Amino acid sequence: MSATIIRNGRVIDPSNKHDEIGDLAILHGKIVQTSEVRHQKSDVEEIDAKGLIVAPGLIDIHVHLREPGFSHKETIESGARAAAAGGFTSIVCMPNTSPPADSPATITWIKNRAADLACVNVLPTGAISKNLAGEELASLGSLAQAGVVAITDDGHCVQNHELMRRAVEYARMVGLPVLDHCQDYNLVGNGVVHEGYWSTLLGLPGWPAAGEEAIVMRNILLAELCDHHVHCQHVSAAGSVRLIREARARGVKISGEVCPHHIALTDEAIQNFDTNYKMNPPLRAQTDVDAILEGVADGTLSILCSDHAPHAGFEKEVEFDQAPFGIVGLETELGIFIDQLVHKHRKIDIARLIEMYTVEPAKLLKLNAGTLSVGAAGDVTLIDPNLEWTVKIDNFQSASRNSPFDGWKLKGRAIRTIVGGKTVWKL
Ligand SMILES: [Zn+2]
Repeated sequence: MSATIIRNGRVIDPSNKHDEIGDLAILHGKIVQTSEVRHQKSDVEEIDAKGLIVAPGLIDIHVHLREPGFSHKETIESGARAAAAGGFTSIVCMPNTSPPADSPATITWIKNRAADLACVNVLPTGAISKNLAGEELASLGSLAQAGVVAITDDGHCVQNHELMRRAVEYARMVGLPVLDHCQDYNLVGNGVVHEGYWSTLLGLPGWPAAGEEAIVMRNILLAELCDHHVHCQHVSAAGSVRLIREARARGVKISGEVCPHHIALTDEAIQNFDTNYKMNPPLRAQTDVDAILEGVADGTLSILCSDHAPHAGFEKEVEFDQAPFGIVGLETELGIFIDQLVHKHRKIDIARLIEMYTVEPAKLLKLNAGTLSVGAAGDVTLIDPNLEWTVKIDNFQSASRNSPFDGWKLKGRAIRTIVGGKTVWKL
């Protein structure tokens, strides 16, 4: 069916500062004036959105789809299904695959695979350095030509500041934003959990907050030096929030994103050695959580995302310090953020939350998405902000189950995901 009308929803479109009850129409995959659909002779699909929020399709800018190379953890197809089930119409995938996404050939492979199999838009990033080794720049110009939306070495971090300077300068020349996983290898060493009370008590190697803050500071200096945007991925530490806030106040082109686990959990959760609480950067102290919440409230941290990092059960079911970092997040992030940020802590309202998932990522990555303007792609997410539900990992669309949120009761959920006018997931 090529015409759809979504009736009587609360249409929230932060890109147009629009928030009122009304109808939204999609014709041939694009948002149109409702009058155009009313005059259609062919069948029109009617969706009743009474009591629901009608939002631009949500964008998650930090997702590991694991293909090519690790399809036992996730595939582009299963990851896209998980995204749709979480309310996402566009996802940005990280380059730490095998081979890594450091060449146009791999980018083209990912794009073709996504075009064939993914039910949501998949936007690849390219690596900053060849083989993510931090020694030699990848061919950023040809990655830009191949259609990456940003460069990042996520999972790794370029340690050589001079190489990173050249990456930021070159990225500016080819018009690509730089995303960075902030981790100083010398400070972090073999750390697996936040360095603090619980790491000491449990005898696990500590990952100090300074290991993140040092690279956040480096990125601020380089953003200033090169006059180009650097975005800090998965900010976890209070000091990082303070540094980003001060730099933004001075006009530096720096930003930061927040993952649900860094506001919903603290390092206290690691005491039973459950590897579903092991992620990078690690769960931190309550003071860090409080600082991140304040950073979201005052706009210092402007983007919400999952860092969806699937791993197979046999990989996670090992000793804590041997287990891989990361958890799945696509199917729980919206619920956790609405529950914690809007309902529980009242740090932002639902319109700002939608803005942090649409306008803000679209602006950072210069995407033609995240809006309900006439002529935009018919990507829409229907959200029930008050729906109470329980997370059940066995119901996940993702190929992996490594979530610490199994059994959590949340309030707020996407109930329908529409990509290019087509419903790709429905509760
Ligand atoms: Zn990372």
